[in-house]
Amino acid sequence: MDAISRLKMLTAQMHLEPAEDVQCPQISAHKQDEVAISQAALPNGQHIKLLKTLLTSVCERDCFYCPFRAGRDFRRATFTPDEFARTFMALHKAGAAEGLFISSGLINGGTYTQDQLLDTAEILRHKIGYRGYLHLKLMPGSQQAQVERAMLLADRVSINLEAPNTQRLQRLAPGKRFLDELLQPLRWVEEIRRSQPPQKAWNARWPSSVTQFVVGAVEDTDLELLSTTAYLYNQLHLKRAYFSAFNPIPDTPLEELPPTSAAREHRLYQASFLLRDYGFDLEELPFTSLGNLPLETDPKQAWAQVNLTEQPIEINRADRRELLRIPGIGPKSANAILGARRTHRLKDLSELRHLGANARRAAPYILLNGFRPAHQMSFL
Ligand code: SF4
Repeated sequence: MDAISRLKMLTAQMHLEPAEDVQCPQISAHKQDEVAISQAALPNGQHIKLLKTLLTSVCERDCFYCPFRAGRDFRRATFTPDEFARTFMALHKAGAAEGLFISSGLINGGTYTQDQLLDTAEILRHKIGYRGYLHLKLMPGSQQAQVERAMLLADRVSINLEAPNTQRLQRLAPGKRFLDELLQPLRWVEEIRRSQPPQKAWNARWPSSVTQFVVGAVEDTDLELLSTTAYLYNQLHLKRAYFSAFNPIPDTPLEELPPTSAAREHRLYQASFLLRDYGFDLEELPFTSLGNLPLETDPKQAWAQVNLTEQPIEINRADRRELLRIPGIGPKSANAILGARRTHRLKDLSELRHLGANARRAAPYILLNGFRPAHQMSFL
């Protein structure tokens, strides 16, 4: 099969998500007749056409949720590093793909597979002059020197933890080891960022790091997922944790399980942003006794209902951390409020609205110049 036909097959087999560039591969029935390109938002907010693919869909592992698991019956495709790099560069030069996300099934272990990916990246960067966005996957079991090599070449690196801890991973992907195969490469990424100058990297910036969890297949709780997420944000400075609601794949050991709701995935994202951007601690999140977030309420709203209903925050006196506790106020609108307060006192909801806040959501939890906003009761 020629290179473009193989690329069509591989991209059709990847799950195509327009919003971001890290998703668990899933079978996709559409776009079989073209090289599927995603729209992706980069860390800097720029949107690009991103080719998301595998170097090979052959895999020797048997992760229970994965369509590429060993022994599953479907047609597979493989590229050599040189062949892939040149095929991608042709697409790039033709304007069909502006960036690349590349992962791989595992062959001959994580170290060998990582070398294949690194060789591909080396060819792109140093032999054929590719200067666009590159998200390079770290393989389970990759070595420290390989992680460093990846960081010299990529704009983003990632390894999917898949589960929040060793016990859950055992049930999801028994062939993977949580601590030394999956978490350790992320620790090395942070260690290298802290100990070495970014000028070593291809564009003088260390790549960001991200991970992904499969949510809800093995009784994992939101508390477990967000505990690990908090560690990743606080200790390893991950850019983002992605949550992928479990979706059963035919001909896998988990095919009989029900899918996880999109609502749960959504609540996990909201809570993870509270941990990352809003100064919340894990203990402040509104977990139920079973360790999950309520599905019916936004976690920030749930926190505010308990903590702010009787003790509203005065918008004209609150510091940034307090402003961020108020539903409807995010990092940008908090900054805008602080800026506006330098020139005048804020007195009504329309001013908050003009500063980018969702005034309707904020109203039940605030004071404006000493008074509860006039229409508060209608918002409860
Ligand atoms: S290592 Fe596991 S998750 Fe990755 S491609 Fe192979 S079976 Fe799928």
